[in-house]
Amino acid sequence: MPILDKMETCIFCKIINGDVPCDKVYEDDKTLAFLDLNPVARGHTLVIPKKHFETMDEMDEETAAAVIETTQKIARAVLKFNDGYNVNQNNKPEAGQVVPHVHYHIVPRNSGDGLHYCWNKIDLSEKEIDEVKVKIQTFLK
Ligand code: 5GP
Ligand code: ZN
Repeated sequence: MPILDKMETCIFCKIINGDVPCDKVYEDDKTLAFLDLNPVARGHTLVIPKKHFETMDEMDEETAAAVIETTQKIARAVLKFNDGYNVNQNNKPEAGQVVPHVHYHIVPRNSGDGLHYCWNKIDLSEKEIDEVKVKIQTFLK
């Protein structure tokens, strides 16, 4: 689908354009931060670039830097009234991405809040570790 069509159907682009309302907490020329509609914690915030990119790897360096800067700003604010926070960032449906406009979740955390990851650890042989390490290094070139 061409990028302009994607932007027209993208819920986060609609929020950026003001066509869909949001509970905005911060905005600058490159990024927007607003409360998640379905929070898993009080203050669960999403940080997005104003330019439409589907996944984190697609962003240009300037946009990526701006998004991280805003994520850090939100994290610092969240830490003023919480014990900690998670930054979660899903890319592609197989990884749990529902909205195809890159976004960073900042989830405030407190002791006993009952939130937990459900990632299962896997066992890898030395050979498998070597293979995957080489694969990543090869694709980095
Ligand atoms: P994902 O699973 O793609 O990483 O997360 C997408 C997030 O966007 C979800 O947590 C969902 O609640 C949130 N979301 C989806 N649509 C809207 C919306 O229209 N407004 C707001 N504020 N959040 C949304
Ligand atoms: Zn978008």
